[in-house]
Amino acid sequence: MSPEPANCPLCSAAAERMRAATRGFRYTCPSCGTFHISSRALTCRNDIPASAREDVRRLRSYGHAPQIEVSPDGVRIVPGRS
Ligand SMILES: [Zn+2]
Repeated sequence: MSPEPANCPLCSAAAERMRAATRGFRYTCPSCGTFHISSRALTCRNDIPASAREDVRRLRSYGHAPQIEVSPDGVRIVPGRS
């Protein structure tokens, strides 16, 4: 699987994504860094909170691999396995 060009769902910058082993994609954005997003979260990207970029950055600074997913309460960002 090779990376394909895609706009970052968080900041719309030109980024790359790869299909992840689990459902979804792993994005590598020059601005937001690397994070995982589920296919379902991608389909409702308008519901991604504006704070998501900051959450992703904060989680990464703590060494987590941030994951954006849809929960019953809406889109949320959780610390994934690093
Ligand atoms: Zn981005």
